[in-house]
Amino acid sequence: MHKKAVDGELLDASDAEDLVARHLHTPFAYPELRTKLAQAAAKAIKRYFGTHGEEIPRTVHSEKQVQVHVAPGITVVGRIDLIRRLDTDELAIVDFKSTDRAQAEDVTRDQLHVYAVGYGELTGENADLIEVLNLDEAGKTTREEIEDSLLTEVREDIRKAGEELRTNDLPRLNAWGEQCERCDLVALCREKPGSGHGS
Ligand code: SF4
Repeated sequence: MHKKAVDGELLDASDAEDLVARHLHTPFAYPELRTKLAQAAAKAIKRYFGTHGEEIPRTVHSEKQVQVHVAPGITVVGRIDLIRRLDTDELAIVDFKSTDRAQAEDVTRDQLHVYAVGYGELTGENADLIEVLNLDEAGKTTREEIEDSLLTEVREDIRKAGEELRTNDLPRLNAWGEQCERCDLVALCREKPGSGHGS
C-alpha cells in the first residue's frame, strides 16, 4: 500500500484481502494454516489502515535500499521499510516490527541510525526521526529524534567491527555473556551455564 501511495494510488481497508491474496507467500503451509495466516494478515492490514491510514499519502519511499560507506572497503547494505513525511514536515525513517520479528531495542535503534546515515548519503537529505511501528495488536510504537552523536558512534562501531573481521581479531569471550544468548555460533563454542558441562 505504501508503494502504491508513492505512485499516487491510495488503497484502503477494503483492499486488505486482495493485498493478502497477492502477497502472502506460504509455499509450505497446509491449507488450514494458510487460511489462518491470511486472516491474521488481513486483520493486521485493516488495523494498520485504522491507525496509520491517514499517514499513508505522506509516504516518500517504501522499501528503500541504502548503502553506507563506513570506511574504505566497509559498506553496509540495508533496506529501509518506510520513509515518510510527518505533518510537522519532518522526515521519519520507519521500521516495521512484529513479535515474530522482535529484536532487542538497542539493536533496532543502531540499525535505524545506520539507515539514517545511508539515506543521507543517498539523497543528500537528512532524516529527523526514527520510528518503530509495531504491527501487533497491543504493539508499542516508538519515535525518537535522530541523535548526531549516535550516528558517529554507530559509524565507529561498524568501522571497528569491520577492522576486527579483517584482522581476524575475534576472541572468544572468557565467560558466558549476554551476547552468547543470541549468538548463532553458540553450539560450536560452549555449553550454556547450568545445561551440563562447559564454561
Ligand atoms: S557463544 Fe558466541 S558470543 Fe559467546 S563467546 Fe562463543 S562465539 Fe562469542
